[in-house]
Amino acid sequence: MAEDGEIFTCVKGRMPTSIDLARRLREYEEKGRNAVLSVSNRSFRFGGLWFCPCCASRLEEQEASFFCNQCGRHLERKIIYFLVEFHPHWTNNAWR
Ligand SMILES: [Zn+2]
Repeated sequence: MAEDGEIFTCVKGRMPTSIDLARRLREYEEKGRNAVLSVSNRSFRFGGLWFCPCCASRLEEQEASFFCNQCGRHLERKIIYFLVEFHPHWTNNAWR
């Protein structure tokens, strides 16, 4: 992702983030290692492959977050929800 003023843009996926998502991603960068997490829905799993916005390592889905083994940050599950629901990517010649 490239920083683009207030927001970020995924250049490859032609996806600008919302201002709210950009704020959450900045918080992840700043506070992800000391995140205070609450488990809201234990049975729900997103699945799929997710990568750390800071270091691009693969994230491990856990009960309360997606954990980055490389930089030790916890990505809130809510952020994945915002990405899935509101931020389609241009992939294989279609918005997905
Ligand atoms: Zn990381």
